[in-house]
Amino acid sequence: MNHAPLPSSEKAPRVLIVGAGPIGLELAVDLQRNRIPFEIVDAGPIGQTMNWWAPETRWFSSNERISIAGVPLLTKDQSKATREDYLNYLRGIAIQFNLRVRTYEPVTKIRRSEQGFDVDTMPQQSLRSDHYDKIVLAIGGTDRPRRLNVPGEDLPHVDGYLREPHRYFGRRVLIVGGRNSAAEAALRLHHAGAQVSLSYRGPALPEEGIKYWLLPELKGLCSAGRITAHFGSEVVRITPQETELRSAQSNETFSVKADDVLTLIGYEQNKSLFQSAGVNLQESTQHPEFDLATMETNVPGIYVAGTAVAGTQNSRYKTFLENCHQHVDKIVAHLTGQTATAQDDQFQKQITAQPES
Ligand SMILES: Cc1cc2nc3c(=O)[nH]c(=O)nc-3n(C[C@H](O)[C@H](O)[C@H](O)COP(=O)(O)OP(=O)(O)OC[C@H]3O[C@@H](n4cnc5c(N)ncnc54)[C@H](O)[C@@H]3O)c2cc1C
Repeated sequence: MNHAPLPSSEKAPRVLIVGAGPIGLELAVDLQRNRIPFEIVDAGPIGQTMNWWAPETRWFSSNERISIAGVPLLTKDQSKATREDYLNYLRGIAIQFNLRVRTYEPVTKIRRSEQGFDVDTMPQQSLRSDHYDKIVLAIGGTDRPRRLNVPGEDLPHVDGYLREPHRYFGRRVLIVGGRNSAAEAALRLHHAGAQVSLSYRGPALPEEGIKYWLLPELKGLCSAGRITAHFGSEVVRITPQETELRSAQSNETFSVKADDVLTLIGYEQNKSLFQSAGVNLQESTQHPEFDLATMETNVPGIYVAGTAVAGTQNSRYKTFLENCHQHVDKIVAHLTGQTATAQDDQFQKQITAQPES
């Protein structure tokens, strides 16, 4: 959106966008349209979060809800975009708007200085320090897989990410988790010829936590015994050959043989940038404190955008790309001294939602 230009007496602030996910890129385009000078960096490639999804993973949001900067996201058969469609799309956005993203350059520290912020980054393992007037943290909330904290979790056959399904062909795979990621992995690996077992701590598949188009098939395969479901179970320890589970009902332990163990129990946000910059973290999700109208955090000059606002989301995700586009408008409006038109009265509810079991 184009906002009224800054009065000619006012110098435009120099902005650093941290994170070149969809929201960081959408903000970059909007700053460009409003002639606000900016730089954008990412710890990985652009769209790093989608980059680690398993090949051909589909978005569950419709294309118009995940498209950015007003550029249509089209797929060849009008279906929901895959990871590959979307990464192509993001590269197209970067080319179309000539966005010079400094990739593979993690921001490691933000310090307040007299006027603005000193920022350390690590391109190619060497330290670079720069000064900026304003910073937008569009760093997402899924930096690393959530851990089980059990012995054996760091063994090489244990992974917090689903990889290319082909590599699991003919193998015994234990999937730990019971929500969308675990459900989707169980189905994909079953169809790819793996022998799948599922360990979930709940007494049954959580109907509200699994997409409606995945649930019936998974239920059917579990009831038919084609996927072995261990409901009401928790992982006790993992060894190279088998994983020990404890039944919540009987409190007894039993072992499941597994060549691969996938711990698909969610992801965590890295809080270090918020902490180094002095941004307050709140509630069980440790989400940053910020003003809903402007997206400015408790540190004046530091903004937060995208799913980063929600901290580490508990098992049921409520803040998605789909409901974050308005952050861009609010930030640009604040930087140009306007008031954003976007409203989000659902937002407070989303970020303060209690964890679900
Ligand atoms: C399998 C799966 C399916 C999903 N499907 C949907 C869906 O259908 N609809 C939906 O809305 N959401 C979906 N999501 C969630 C989706 O990933 C997020 O909504 C989306 O990525 C949020 O965009 P973002 O720009 O806020 O953050 P991200 O895409 O996470 O981008 C954050 C960026 O910041 C970078 N970064 C982090 N820390 C630093 C640092 N210190 N220095 C520099 N760069 C840094 C990261 O490398 C990353 O590129 C899904 C997630 C998964 C795992």
